[in-house]
Amino acid sequence: MKNQVTEGNDYITVESVADFLDKIQKLNEAVEKEDNKGKQNLYFRGECSYYENRIPSLYVKYELFKSGSEYYYRTLLSELGRDDYQENASLFRLISELQHYEAKTRMLDVSSNPLIALYMAVVAFDGTVDEKEDGYVYIYRTSVKNEKFDTGHTAAIKSALNFMPQDVINDFLAANESLSPEFRERYEKYDMDKFEKNVKKSTAYFENVSEFMERLNQCARVRERLIYPIKIYNDLNKAHLIIPAKATERIRRQQGFTTVAGCHFNYCNVKRILKNEAYVGDRLFQKFYNEDPITKRSVVNRGELPQYYFKDHHKGIISRDVYEQTLIEYEKRNRENYKTYPFTGKLYCECCGEKYHRCARSATNINWGCRTNKYLRNVSCDSRKYQESDLMMVACKLLKLKAFDADMFSDEVERINVKEDSSLEFILYRGEKLIWPKEWLKYLQPEKRKRGFRQVKSKNVE
Ligand SMILES: [Zn+2]
Repeated sequence: MKNQVTEGNDYITVESVADFLDKIQKLNEAVEKEDNKGKQNLYFRGECSYYENRIPSLYVKYELFKSGSEYYYRTLLSELGRDDYQENASLFRLISELQHYEAKTRMLDVSSNPLIALYMAVVAFDGTVDEKEDGYVYIYRTSVKNEKFDTGHTAAIKSALNFMPQDVINDFLAANESLSPEFRERYEKYDMDKFEKNVKKSTAYFENVSEFMERLNQCARVRERLIYPIKIYNDLNKAHLIIPAKATERIRRQQGFTTVAGCHFNYCNVKRILKNEAYVGDRLFQKFYNEDPITKRSVVNRGELPQYYFKDHHKGIISRDVYEQTLIEYEKRNRENYKTYPFTGKLYCECCGEKYHRCARSATNINWGCRTNKYLRNVSCDSRKYQESDLMMVACKLLKLKAFDADMFSDEVERINVKEDSSLEFILYRGEKLIWPKEWLKYLQPEKRKRGFRQVKSKNVE
């Protein structure tokens, strides 16, 4: 399967997703450098086989185009049970909704996300993939000032056309085409009244134009009356890029901001994509296992059963280099976002097996306690809490340091076990064990927590 990236009239052939993204990245950089034309945006459209022109679906249906789409749309709306279109704030949104249900429209879908276009270039409308056929991604470049919003007049006028009789539109177009381009340029800012008073034209012209303007104002439903016929004619002769408001969940979904299952993207979903070895061509076996042969409930294998890693199991869609760089970057950002402290991951509770976590109530009141009390409901662990300053003091005494040194501490101490009697056992990398016995706990600050508080609370709830 080959996919093509177009640039001007050139075709660039790409063979992999990594290659595709690389080309797009270069194109984006090139566009950013050309700032003499003002800020520009790139838009993408994917087609899964070759067509000479990018044609909106309505024009492909010649019959529909010739006889007009008014009846067609009104039928569709009644089929959908939508009688609210008269009140709809934006006709454009309504039509884009119809387009979503595969109705024929005068619109051509483009996306600001190249990966959506790539998907459209690979997967046909019926969901099948033809491996032998090439897909095409077309790239559009527009200046930001030429982009229109769906609440603007241009979008309203163009959408309104779908609900107007075709002969009225054709008469309007023909009437304006009879004017010379110079004339159209000169009188672009004339409204109908000014036109009628100052410009001598045949009555047929005015009849056609005013009929159209009347219908347009009925259908477009914008706040002010639309009054400039030549301006409207010029607009109709141009293609516009219209940005839909991301107001509805549906449009967000349409733009692909969901997982395969249609859920919201969150940290975990993104992490799963970044770390998924299947994209690079590997496979990890036994990620899940059946908990029970009768219930057949699939559960995540967290080390209960062995896992097998199969390298180059199938052909990957991203290169191994990109994958490895991603993992390195992931680890790097993970470290940056989750601040660690000298005791992080070293203190273990022997009552329940959990790790200790840090809890900073103020700059001076920082203590370390068992995580069970933080994360599990209705379960509590009675192990002792320790002030961070006390742990540092203990470490200094046991390791015979004058002042606490975080680097030296991490180099020497592998883990600290908090015994059931609250004594501390330091296990060093060199194999030695150092103990802070129970009798010495009187040298530490007294614990501030009221014991058993959580248990009492959970009993009351029951
Ligand atoms: Zn515990």
